[in-house]
Amino acid sequence: MNQLTDSYGRKIEYVRISVTDRCDLRCAYCMPVGFKDYREPAGWLHFDEIVRLASILSAHGTRRIRLTGGEPLLRKNLPDLVARLRDEANIPDVSVSTNAVRLPRFAKALKEAGLARVNISLDSLDREKIAKICGRDVLPQILAGIDAALEADLRPVKINMVLMPGVNDMEVEDMFNFCRERGLTLRMIETMPIGDTGRKTGTVSLQPVMAKLREEHGLIPVMIPLGGGPARYWQTPDGKTQIGFITPISDHFCETCNRVRLSVDGTIYLCLGQEARIEMRDLLRQHPDDDRPILDALRQGIEQKPWQHDFLQTPEKIVRFMSQTGG
Ligand code: SAM
Ligand code: SF4
Repeated sequence: MNQLTDSYGRKIEYVRISVTDRCDLRCAYCMPVGFKDYREPAGWLHFDEIVRLASILSAHGTRRIRLTGGEPLLRKNLPDLVARLRDEANIPDVSVSTNAVRLPRFAKALKEAGLARVNISLDSLDREKIAKICGRDVLPQILAGIDAALEADLRPVKINMVLMPGVNDMEVEDMFNFCRERGLTLRMIETMPIGDTGRKTGTVSLQPVMAKLREEHGLIPVMIPLGGGPARYWQTPDGKTQIGFITPISDHFCETCNRVRLSVDGTIYLCLGQEARIEMRDLLRQHPDDDRPILDALRQGIEQKPWQHDFLQTPEKIVRFMSQTGG
Protein backbone atom coordinates (compact mmCIF):
# COMPACT_ATOMS: atom_id res chain seq x y z
CA MET A 1 0.00 0.00 0.00
CA ASN A 2 1.22 3.44 -0.85
CA GLN A 3 0.05 5.65 2.02
CA LEU A 4 -1.15 9.16 1.20
CA THR A 5 1.29 11.48 2.93
CA ASP A 6 1.76 15.23 2.85
CA SER A 7 5.00 17.10 2.24
CA TYR A 8 5.67 17.22 6.01
CA GLY A 9 5.40 13.45 6.35
CA ARG A 10 1.95 13.47 7.97
CA LYS A 11 -0.01 10.40 6.97
CA ILE A 12 -3.63 10.97 6.02
CA GLU A 13 -5.62 8.19 7.61
CA TYR A 14 -8.79 9.98 8.71
CA VAL A 15 -11.39 11.60 6.45
CA ARG A 16 -14.44 13.57 7.49
CA ILE A 17 -17.16 13.38 4.87
CA SER A 18 -19.96 15.92 4.76
CA VAL A 19 -23.11 14.31 3.36
CA THR A 20 -25.11 17.53 3.38
CA ASP A 21 -24.52 21.22 4.02
CA ARG A 22 -28.10 21.61 5.33
CA CYS A 23 -29.09 21.64 8.94
CA ASP A 24 -32.25 21.73 11.02
CA LEU A 25 -30.52 23.91 13.66
CA ARG A 26 -28.66 27.22 13.54
CA CYS A 27 -25.97 27.00 16.21
CA ALA A 28 -24.72 30.50 16.92
CA TYR A 29 -21.04 29.68 16.20
CA CYS A 30 -21.75 27.68 13.04
CA MET A 31 -24.56 28.67 10.70
CA PRO A 32 -26.22 32.10 10.51
CA VAL A 33 -29.96 32.52 11.07
CA GLY A 34 -31.70 32.83 7.70
CA PHE A 35 -28.89 30.96 5.90
CA LYS A 36 -30.11 29.44 2.66
CA ASP A 37 -27.08 29.41 0.41
CA TYR A 38 -27.01 25.64 0.08
CA ARG A 39 -25.39 23.54 -2.62
CA GLU A 40 -27.93 22.29 -5.16
CA PRO A 41 -28.64 18.53 -4.82
CA ALA A 42 -27.49 18.02 -8.45
CA GLY A 43 -24.02 19.02 -7.30
CA TRP A 44 -23.91 16.67 -4.32
CA LEU A 45 -21.74 13.60 -4.53
CA HIS A 46 -23.92 10.48 -4.91
CA PHE A 47 -23.37 7.57 -2.56
CA ASP A 48 -21.68 5.66 -5.43
CA GLU A 49 -19.18 8.49 -5.80
CA ILE A 50 -18.54 8.77 -2.07
CA VAL A 51 -18.00 5.01 -1.80
CA ARG A 52 -15.69 5.02 -4.82
CA LEU A 53 -13.58 7.82 -3.40
CA ALA A 54 -13.56 6.15 0.03
CA SER A 55 -12.39 2.89 -1.58
CA ILE A 56 -9.45 4.67 -3.21
CA LEU A 57 -8.62 6.43 0.06
CA SER A 58 -8.95 3.17 1.98
CA ALA A 59 -6.56 1.41 -0.39
CA HIS A 60 -4.06 4.18 0.42
CA GLY A 61 -4.22 4.33 4.17
CA THR A 62 -7.56 5.76 5.33
CA ARG A 63 -8.81 3.70 8.29
CA ARG A 64 -11.46 6.02 9.70
CA ILE A 65 -14.32 7.98 8.24
CA ARG A 66 -16.62 10.32 10.11
CA LEU A 67 -19.87 11.37 8.46
CA THR A 68 -20.77 14.94 9.21
CA GLY A 69 -22.41 18.02 7.71
CA GLY A 70 -24.48 20.17 8.15
CA GLU A 71 -26.63 17.63 9.89
CA PRO A 72 -25.79 14.21 8.43
CA LEU A 73 -29.01 12.56 9.60
CA LEU A 74 -30.90 14.78 7.16
CA ARG A 75 -29.37 12.84 4.25
CA LYS A 76 -31.71 10.13 3.03
CA ASN A 77 -30.65 6.50 3.54
CA LEU A 78 -27.60 7.32 5.64
CA PRO A 79 -27.46 3.78 7.12
CA ASP A 80 -26.99 2.44 3.57
CA LEU A 81 -23.95 4.65 3.15
CA VAL A 82 -22.53 3.46 6.47
CA ALA A 83 -22.90 -0.18 5.43
CA ARG A 84 -21.34 0.47 2.02
CA LEU A 85 -18.37 2.34 3.50
CA ARG A 86 -17.67 -0.65 5.71
CA ASP A 87 -18.37 -3.44 3.25
CA GLU A 88 -17.43 -2.01 -0.14
CA ALA A 89 -14.85 0.64 0.78
CA ASN A 90 -13.39 -1.52 3.53
CA ILE A 91 -13.32 1.23 6.17
CA PRO A 92 -13.20 -0.46 9.58
CA ASP A 93 -14.18 2.58 11.63
CA VAL A 94 -17.20 4.63 10.48
CA SER A 95 -18.67 7.16 12.89
CA VAL A 96 -21.09 10.11 12.78
CA SER A 97 -21.17 13.63 14.25
CA THR A 98 -24.75 14.75 14.82
CA ASN A 99 -26.93 17.23 16.67
CA ALA A 100 -28.91 14.12 17.76
CA VAL A 101 -32.35 15.58 17.03
CA ARG A 102 -33.13 12.73 14.61
CA LEU A 103 -31.14 10.08 16.44
CA PRO A 104 -34.13 8.46 18.19
CA ARG A 105 -35.36 7.55 14.68
CA PHE A 106 -32.06 6.36 13.26
CA ALA A 107 -29.77 5.09 16.05
CA LYS A 108 -30.80 1.45 15.77
CA ALA A 109 -30.60 1.33 11.97
CA LEU A 110 -27.19 3.01 12.05
CA LYS A 111 -25.90 0.49 14.56
CA GLU A 112 -27.23 -2.38 12.46
CA ALA A 113 -25.50 -0.88 9.42
CA GLY A 114 -22.18 -1.10 11.27
CA LEU A 115 -21.76 2.40 12.63
CA ALA A 116 -19.15 2.36 15.41
CA ARG A 117 -20.10 5.38 17.49
CA VAL A 118 -21.49 8.91 17.54
CA ASN A 119 -20.37 12.35 18.64
CA ILE A 120 -23.24 14.57 19.73
CA SER A 121 -23.25 18.37 19.98
CA LEU A 122 -24.68 19.60 23.28
CA ASP A 123 -23.65 23.03 24.53
CA SER A 124 -25.94 23.49 27.53
CA LEU A 125 -28.32 21.67 29.84
CA ASP A 126 -30.59 24.69 30.08
CA ARG A 127 -33.58 24.42 27.77
CA GLU A 128 -33.94 28.14 27.11
CA LYS A 129 -30.26 28.52 26.47
CA ILE A 130 -30.26 25.67 23.97
CA ALA A 131 -33.22 27.30 22.23
CA LYS A 132 -31.18 30.49 21.91
CA ILE A 133 -27.90 28.83 20.88
CA CYS A 134 -29.47 26.41 18.38
CA GLY A 135 -32.33 28.60 17.18
CA ARG A 136 -34.87 25.92 18.15
CA ASP A 137 -36.29 24.54 21.39
CA VAL A 138 -34.66 21.13 21.04
CA LEU A 139 -33.10 20.15 24.37
CA PRO A 140 -35.65 17.32 24.98
CA GLN A 141 -34.99 15.91 21.49
CA ILE A 142 -31.20 16.07 21.96
CA LEU A 143 -31.47 14.29 25.32
CA ALA A 144 -33.69 11.63 23.73
CA GLY A 145 -31.07 11.30 20.99
CA ILE A 146 -28.35 10.72 23.59
CA ASP A 147 -30.48 8.03 25.24
CA ALA A 148 -31.09 6.41 21.86
CA ALA A 149 -27.36 6.34 21.13
CA LEU A 150 -26.63 4.70 24.47
CA GLU A 151 -29.45 2.21 23.99
CA ALA A 152 -28.14 1.29 20.54
CA ASP A 153 -24.67 0.89 22.06
CA LEU A 154 -23.03 3.44 19.76
CA ARG A 155 -20.29 3.85 22.37
CA PRO A 156 -18.32 5.66 23.50
CA VAL A 157 -20.91 8.41 23.06
CA LYS A 158 -18.96 11.67 23.03
CA ILE A 159 -20.56 15.01 23.82
CA ASN A 160 -19.12 18.01 21.99
CA MET A 161 -19.50 21.26 23.91
CA VAL A 162 -18.28 24.47 22.25
CA LEU A 163 -17.47 26.92 25.03
CA MET A 164 -18.87 30.41 24.44
CA PRO A 165 -17.84 33.32 26.67
CA GLY A 166 -20.66 34.41 28.98
CA VAL A 167 -23.06 31.89 27.45
CA ASN A 168 -22.18 28.41 28.69
CA ASP A 169 -18.71 28.67 30.23
CA MET A 170 -20.34 28.62 33.69
CA GLU A 171 -21.86 25.20 32.93
CA VAL A 172 -18.65 23.17 32.73
CA GLU A 173 -19.08 21.48 36.11
CA ASP A 174 -22.76 20.66 35.44
CA MET A 175 -21.93 19.20 32.06
CA PHE A 176 -19.06 17.17 33.52
CA ASN A 177 -21.41 15.71 36.15
CA PHE A 178 -24.13 15.06 33.56
CA CYS A 179 -21.68 13.12 31.42
CA ARG A 180 -20.16 11.29 34.37
CA GLU A 181 -23.57 10.06 35.56
CA ARG A 182 -24.47 8.70 32.12
CA GLY A 183 -21.13 7.23 31.06
CA LEU A 184 -20.63 9.84 28.32
CA THR A 185 -17.26 11.28 27.27
CA LEU A 186 -17.30 15.08 27.42
CA ARG A 187 -15.18 17.00 24.91
CA MET A 188 -14.87 20.71 25.23
CA ILE A 189 -13.97 22.72 22.14
CA GLU A 190 -12.53 26.19 21.62
CA THR A 191 -14.57 28.18 19.09
CA MET A 192 -12.69 28.71 15.85
CA PRO A 193 -13.03 31.92 13.80
CA ILE A 194 -14.71 30.14 10.91
CA GLY A 195 -17.25 32.37 9.17
CA ASP A 196 -18.76 35.45 10.80
CA THR A 197 -20.63 33.17 13.16
CA GLY A 198 -17.45 31.65 14.58
CA ARG A 199 -15.75 35.06 14.85
CA LYS A 200 -18.72 36.76 16.54
CA THR A 201 -19.05 34.02 19.15
CA GLY A 202 -15.62 34.51 20.70
CA THR A 203 -13.35 31.88 22.21
CA VAL A 204 -12.89 30.69 25.78
CA SER A 205 -9.35 29.40 26.35
CA LEU A 206 -9.63 25.87 27.69
CA GLN A 207 -6.30 26.07 29.54
CA PRO A 208 -7.72 27.44 32.84
CA VAL A 209 -10.83 25.26 32.47
CA MET A 210 -8.63 22.19 32.10
CA ALA A 211 -6.45 23.17 35.07
CA LYS A 212 -9.49 23.68 37.32
CA LEU A 213 -11.13 20.37 36.38
CA ARG A 214 -7.84 18.52 36.81
CA GLU A 215 -7.36 19.93 40.26
CA GLU A 216 -10.95 19.43 41.43
CA HIS A 217 -11.30 15.88 40.15
CA GLY A 218 -7.70 14.66 40.33
CA LEU A 219 -7.76 13.93 36.58
CA ILE A 220 -4.92 11.96 35.06
CA PRO A 221 -3.82 12.00 31.39
CA VAL A 222 -4.95 9.08 29.27
CA MET A 223 -4.55 7.87 25.67
CA ILE A 224 -7.86 7.05 24.00
CA PRO A 225 -7.41 4.47 21.24
CA LEU A 226 -10.67 5.17 19.35
CA GLY A 227 -11.03 8.20 17.15
CA GLY A 228 -7.49 9.36 16.46
CA GLY A 229 -8.66 12.95 16.78
CA PRO A 230 -7.07 16.09 18.15
CA ALA A 231 -8.56 15.94 21.67
CA ARG A 232 -6.24 15.54 24.62
CA TYR A 233 -7.90 13.28 27.15
CA TRP A 234 -7.89 13.05 30.92
CA GLN A 235 -9.77 10.70 33.17
CA THR A 236 -11.02 10.42 36.72
CA PRO A 237 -8.84 8.34 39.08
CA ASP A 238 -11.40 5.48 38.98
CA GLY A 239 -10.93 5.37 35.18
CA LYS A 240 -14.68 5.59 34.61
CA THR A 241 -14.99 9.09 33.11
CA GLN A 242 -12.96 10.59 30.29
CA ILE A 243 -12.87 14.22 29.30
CA GLY A 244 -11.26 15.65 26.17
CA PHE A 245 -10.05 19.15 25.34
CA ILE A 246 -9.84 20.39 21.75
CA THR A 247 -7.69 23.50 21.77
CA PRO A 248 -7.13 24.74 18.21
CA ILE A 249 -6.59 28.28 19.51
CA SER A 250 -4.74 28.06 22.83
CA ASP A 251 -2.54 25.06 21.96
CA HIS A 252 -2.95 23.86 18.40
CA PHE A 253 -2.18 20.32 17.28
CA CYS A 254 -1.44 20.94 13.58
CA GLU A 255 1.84 19.01 13.66
CA THR A 256 -0.11 15.78 14.19
CA CYS A 257 -2.95 16.53 11.77
CA ASN A 258 -3.90 13.30 10.00
CA ARG A 259 -7.09 14.34 8.24
CA VAL A 260 -8.78 15.99 5.29
CA ARG A 261 -12.45 16.93 4.81
CA LEU A 262 -14.67 16.10 1.85
CA SER A 263 -17.59 18.50 1.41
CA VAL A 264 -20.96 17.53 -0.07
CA ASP A 265 -20.02 18.94 -3.50
CA GLY A 266 -16.84 16.91 -3.73
CA THR A 267 -14.31 19.52 -2.60
CA ILE A 268 -11.58 18.17 -0.35
CA TYR A 269 -10.50 20.83 2.14
CA LEU A 270 -6.95 20.17 3.26
CA CYS A 271 -7.14 22.34 6.39
CA LEU A 272 -10.08 23.84 8.32
CA GLY A 273 -8.30 27.16 8.54
CA GLN A 274 -6.94 27.50 4.99
CA GLU A 275 -8.31 27.75 1.46
CA ALA A 276 -6.21 24.88 0.05
CA ARG A 277 -8.49 22.34 -1.60
CA ILE A 278 -8.83 19.64 -4.26
CA GLU A 279 -11.90 19.55 -6.52
CA MET A 280 -12.87 15.90 -6.94
CA ARG A 281 -16.43 15.84 -8.31
CA ASP A 282 -15.75 16.60 -11.97
CA LEU A 283 -12.79 14.23 -11.98
CA LEU A 284 -14.94 11.44 -10.57
CA ARG A 285 -17.57 12.08 -13.23
CA GLN A 286 -15.08 12.43 -16.09
CA HIS A 287 -13.31 9.16 -15.23
CA PRO A 288 -15.99 6.70 -14.16
CA ASP A 289 -13.85 3.62 -14.94
CA ASP A 290 -10.31 4.77 -14.28
CA ASP A 291 -9.11 5.47 -10.75
CA ARG A 292 -5.66 6.67 -11.75
CA PRO A 293 -6.53 10.35 -12.38
CA ILE A 294 -8.41 10.37 -9.06
CA LEU A 295 -5.46 8.97 -7.18
CA ASP A 296 -3.04 11.35 -8.94
CA ALA A 297 -5.19 14.32 -7.91
CA LEU A 298 -5.34 13.06 -4.33
CA ARG A 299 -1.59 12.59 -4.18
CA GLN A 300 -0.75 15.97 -5.69
CA GLY A 301 -3.39 17.73 -3.58
CA ILE A 302 -2.41 16.14 -0.29
CA GLU A 303 1.22 17.11 -1.01
CA GLN A 304 -0.05 20.70 -0.76
CA LYS A 305 -1.68 20.29 2.66
CA PRO A 306 -0.80 23.44 4.61
CA TRP A 307 1.39 23.05 7.67
CA GLN A 308 -1.05 24.81 10.00
CA HIS A 309 -4.01 27.14 10.32
CA ASP A 310 -3.59 30.89 10.91
CA PHE A 311 -6.55 31.43 13.22
CA LEU A 312 -4.56 33.73 15.50
CA GLN A 313 -2.66 35.69 12.84
CA THR A 314 -5.53 36.12 10.34
CA PRO A 315 -8.83 35.28 12.05
CA GLU A 316 -10.78 36.94 9.23
CA LYS A 317 -9.46 34.51 6.62
CA ILE A 318 -12.12 31.78 6.50
CA VAL A 319 -15.39 33.11 5.14
CA ARG A 320 -17.15 29.75 4.68
CA PHE A 321 -19.15 28.41 7.60
CA MET A 322 -18.28 25.22 9.42
CA SER A 323 -21.47 23.60 8.09
CA GLN A 324 -20.22 24.19 4.53
CA THR A 325 -16.82 22.60 5.05
CA GLY A 326 -18.10 19.67 7.08
CA GLY A 327 -16.88 20.27 10.62
N1 SAM B 1 -24.44 18.84 12.85
C1 SAM B 1 -23.48 17.97 13.44
C2 SAM B 1 -23.13 18.41 14.83
O1 SAM B 1 -23.54 19.48 15.25
O2 SAM B 1 -22.44 17.66 15.52
C3 SAM B 1 -22.23 17.81 12.61
C4 SAM B 1 -21.66 19.04 11.95
S1 SAM B 1 -21.01 20.26 13.05
C5 SAM B 1 -20.42 21.47 11.90
C6 SAM B 1 -19.55 19.45 13.68
C7 SAM B 1 -18.92 20.07 14.90
O3 SAM B 1 -18.41 21.33 14.56
C8 SAM B 1 -19.86 20.27 16.07
O4 SAM B 1 -19.34 19.64 17.22
C9 SAM B 1 -19.88 21.77 16.25
O5 SAM B 1 -20.02 22.10 17.60
C10 SAM B 1 -18.53 22.16 15.70
N2 SAM B 1 -18.42 23.56 15.28
C11 SAM B 1 -19.20 24.24 14.42
N3 SAM B 1 -18.75 25.50 14.27
C12 SAM B 1 -17.65 25.63 15.04
C13 SAM B 1 -16.73 26.68 15.31
N4 SAM B 1 -16.85 27.88 14.75
N5 SAM B 1 -15.71 26.44 16.17
C14 SAM B 1 -15.58 25.23 16.76
N6 SAM B 1 -16.39 24.18 16.54
C15 SAM B 1 -17.43 24.39 15.70
FE1 SF4 C 1 -26.10 22.38 12.49
FE2 SF4 C 1 -24.09 21.07 13.65
FE3 SF4 C 1 -23.74 23.55 12.69
FE4 SF4 C 1 -25.25 23.19 14.81
S1 SF4 C 1 -23.05 22.75 14.66
S2 SF4 C 1 -25.76 24.48 13.03
S3 SF4 C 1 -26.18 21.27 14.43
S4 SF4 C 1 -24.18 21.77 11.50
